Amino acid sequence: MHSQETHLTEIEIEDRLKQHGYRLTAPRSVIVEAVLRHNRPFTAEQLVAELGDGPDAIGRATVYRTLEVLASVDVLTRIVSPDGHPSYISGAPGHRHHLLCEECGTTVTFTACPMNDLIDTLATDTHFLIKDHTLEVFGICPSCQESRS
Ligand SMILES: [Zn+2]
Ligand SMILES: [Zn+2]
Repeated sequence: MHSQETHLTEIEIEDRLKQHGYRLTAPRSVIVEAVLRHNRPFTAEQLVAELGDGPDAIGRATVYRTLEVLASVDVLTRIVSPDGHPSYISGAPGHRHHLLCEECGTTVTFTACPMNDLIDTLATDTHFLIKDHTLEVFGICPSCQESRS
């Protein structure tokens, strides 16, 4: 199975931003650090709550805008978490999908895309020009299965 550890660093994200003409400004750097602290899906509002207090508080609009920038340079993926909330998960750039535990949020990223045959068939049958797709897989991780029994 081609699952992949995708531990990004702030340096890698900074490089990625630079390649796309963005600078890692001070507020963006604080947001990137907060993003990297999450190894499970998080919502924009969670980050707003984490960063919105204190003397160096970062405003909601900046958080939302920066998350969109990070998604646009492909180090953050928008997903729908098992409870139905729009969430984000960080990861190394490239085509990727996620397997999520619906009890604890543990996330496994996999890069082996199983959709190619289906997409070829769909394109042939419908004459759509297919541009992209999402696939999320939900389940119960081994440690949550254990604590259930
Ligand atoms: Zn779990
Ligand atoms: Zn895919």
